[in-house]
Amino acid sequence: MSATPGVGDYGPYFPGSRKIYREGARRDLRVPFRRIELGHMRGQDGTIRRHPPVEVYDTSGPHCDPAVEVDPREGLPELRADWIREREAGGAVTQREWALRGVITPEMEFAAIRENEAGEGAAEGREVQHPGEDFGAGIPARVSAEFVRREIAAGRAVLPASRRHPESEPMVIGRAFRTKINANLGNSAGRSSLEEEVEKMRWSTLWGADTVMDLSTGEAIPDTREAILRNSPVPVGTVPIYEALRRAGDDPAGLDWPLFRDVLREQAEQGVDYMTLHAGVRRDTLPSALRRRTGIVSRGGSILARWIQLRGKENFIYEHFDEVCALMREYDVAFSLGDGLRPGCLADANDEAQFAELRTLGELTRTAWNRGCQVMIEGPGHVPLHRIAENMERELEDCFEAPFYTLGPLVTDIGAGYDHVNSAIGGSVMAWHGAAMLCYVTPKEHLGLPDRDDVREGVVVHRMAAHAADLARGIPGAQVRDNAISAARYDFRWRDVINLCLDPERARRFRYGGDSAAEEEEVDVRYCSMCGEQFCSMRMSRRVAEEDS
Ligand code: SF4
Repeated sequence: MSATPGVGDYGPYFPGSRKIYREGARRDLRVPFRRIELGHMRGQDGTIRRHPPVEVYDTSGPHCDPAVEVDPREGLPELRADWIREREAGGAVTQREWALRGVITPEMEFAAIRENEAGEGAAEGREVQHPGEDFGAGIPARVSAEFVRREIAAGRAVLPASRRHPESEPMVIGRAFRTKINANLGNSAGRSSLEEEVEKMRWSTLWGADTVMDLSTGEAIPDTREAILRNSPVPVGTVPIYEALRRAGDDPAGLDWPLFRDVLREQAEQGVDYMTLHAGVRRDTLPSALRRRTGIVSRGGSILARWIQLRGKENFIYEHFDEVCALMREYDVAFSLGDGLRPGCLADANDEAQFAELRTLGELTRTAWNRGCQVMIEGPGHVPLHRIAENMERELEDCFEAPFYTLGPLVTDIGAGYDHVNSAIGGSVMAWHGAAMLCYVTPKEHLGLPDRDDVREGVVVHRMAAHAADLARGIPGAQVRDNAISAARYDFRWRDVINLCLDPERARRFRYGGDSAAEEEEVDVRYCSMCGEQFCSMRMSRRVAEEDS
């Protein structure tokens, strides 16, 4: 495996970064990374050389410069088309089925290579890093393709890669891997255009969204989804009940299994990689959910609850689960079993309704696994900090370690306007204890549809939460970037400090206020305005160290 320079850069948002590719066993297996080039240093022999670059996981896809306009009708190259074609006659369909047969697919190898972002140095323990606590996740020193295969076969990981979404760059979700984050897209009634949604998708993946969910409920749902799928380098998820409700004239009473089945098939045909299905909202658990302080806050959960009430029948997704499995298997669409009864406030957290649904999701996980499907489980919601671990433990036990994909959780109910931070606090604790993917929350949560700035802020804050969890869990090499930036701070290499940040453009703006002349002049200034020249502790500390040596 070699690192070779690639083309393209990331526009003004990630200065000093280049896209590079690490090559796999086959010629068409090239895994993207963002290489952050650093400044110079004088070696002990007096020669000047560069600090080693830092390579980071890259979700931005082939069109990584947001300033370059892209025609959404053209779509991305079909990276996986040959891999999918080569498997056509193999008998097995899903990544899980291949994994159970002992076969490593190109997708598994691709996902494994990108997990080792810090390269060999980390695996060999050359980098300083605090030992982590992974609560039994079994994180390896280095992720191999065989390890990815084993985790998928065991149901502890999913590789969402629909046969109909060949444009996607494979990735793996599981608690033995780097924590992933999802960003939600989608127009609500009368707001936001198709072009804007594709633009929002590119924007989300530029900042580090590992998957996107199209939650459109407005006009032209299939067209919006098609445009997102053809342009998305990351897996795309949906919540099919939204489109089904639209087709039923926005009346839950108009829903039924044949209508829902048609929506599932059409979305699967288009290439959706994973679907949220609220199959665990059951007739007998509704009464306890409706007695809560905020009842049912999941949109899908509330639609199905209304249908159950109106029809007096069991949830049709639960009733037809075998048929759902057959359809999901046919296209290799991963289940994201929805938590329709997730708590919507602290008072409702960890209650009987939530845990009864979780047990049902465990039962359905077994069924889906037996039919060859991949499964992850969705989780709350709103949970006080000290009850997050209990939530995770229950999920691991009741759902047999299937990956947990959680919305935050938010750890207080009073954060409106700052709920992205609220969610990141809970999300980092949840991911530390084992959640495999965090759904982002933006500053507009509970208040309105997020715009471009909200999406950026939501993604970056959750990227930080996920990184904090990776450090705590002891993902090998997770601390490499922290080590590089702290060395740069102590050396007053401002350009490197900025380029290594999660959001370099913002850090740069805060430091120089958009004044590029000031940036050139002050690039090596040995303090900042926070403490001021005479009170700069780093400067003082360096002086003490130098005079002491
Ligand atoms: S002035 Fe304070 S904040 Fe700024 S570089 Fe020095 S120690 Fe750090």
